[in-house]
Amino acid sequence: LSRFTDEFDVTGCLGKGAYGCVYAARDKLLKQGFAVKIVRSNEKALREVGTLSKLLHCNIVRYYTCWMEDSRYQGHIAAGNSAGSFSSSQSIEDPSAKYLYIQMELCKTKTLKKWIKEKNTQSLQDSKRRQESVAIAQQIVCGVEYIHSMGHIHRDLKPENILFGVDEKVKIGDFGMVTKDDDDDDDDTALMERTGLRGTSTYMAPEQITGKTYDRKVDIFALGLIYFELLWKLSTGHERGVVWNDARSQKLPEEFSLTFAKENEIIKLMLREKPEDRPEAIKLMAELEKWAQTQNMDQERATV
Ligand code: ATP
Ligand code: MG
Ligand code: MG
Repeated sequence: LSRFTDEFDVTGCLGKGAYGCVYAARDKLLKQGFAVKIVRSNEKALREVGTLSKLLHCNIVRYYTCWMEDSRYQGHIAAGNSAGSFSSSQSIEDPSAKYLYIQMELCKTKTLKKWIKEKNTQSLQDSKRRQESVAIAQQIVCGVEYIHSMGHIHRDLKPENILFGVDEKVKIGDFGMVTKDDDDDDDDTALMERTGLRGTSTYMAPEQITGKTYDRKVDIFALGLIYFELLWKLSTGHERGVVWNDARSQKLPEEFSLTFAKENEIIKLMLREKPEDRPEAIKLMAELEKWAQTQNMDQERATV
């Protein structure tokens, strides 16, 4: 017996991380689509859902409810979707394990990662991308400001964890790494193993990598890198790694600083080595708002 299959028709697999799986599912009674994330229930999972349940903001994926089941749903294999297959290790169920089902707002399948990919295939580094980028950055900062004001740190901001709602708004998702701002004893080693240096492009702040104590400013650092990536087409392979590492130490490409002078200034502040030198989210909100308005005025002048 499963509440999930009782109450929902599973319509697809939205994503699969190392620690869980997210399905698109239609509530049979309401005839409405939701996203349901299934994770092994443990302290960390309960923290994720505990935090998400207290947050209500237009730039944060909306939480509806959660429940526990004795097994993980495994029925749906999405055709032609690699995310739908399961590794053998995951198929072996631990009989004592419990699974947490987290029901959330269903967002579009296009994450910010896909948005960036799409933009990079379009040749024009145009004013439209610039305007869209600041609008996206503003919304993420707005969500982050709210998270920080509630005393939390997201810790895992990256394009694949940022979604678009059906209302077209940008939504911060994946609260799997969330923590209290004043929490000292933490599973930092586990955190490092999971996201730390996997792949060439980490969004983690330097102090987060070296395992020093850190605060909410790690989110500002990640956001700086995201804003840069929204605007700038990064090459692939080795070169990408070089540009990325340079960016992480505030060395943005010269052409970038010439083309995007104002953004360059803002991003460099966000990427400051010392966390205390990075602006607070609330300050950034004001800064980006001013910058967006300037751009709009320029745009209007250009079209008159
Ligand atoms: P990772 O291990 O990579 O951190 P995760 O297992 O922690 O992933 P999420 O990041 O929460 O899980 O979700 C994985 C993917 O599923 C997302 O990148 C996104 O593509 C998709 N997804 C998650 N939540 C939603 C949602 N509410 N609506 C639509 N798609 C979603
Ligand atoms: Mg994720
Ligand atoms: Mg995660």
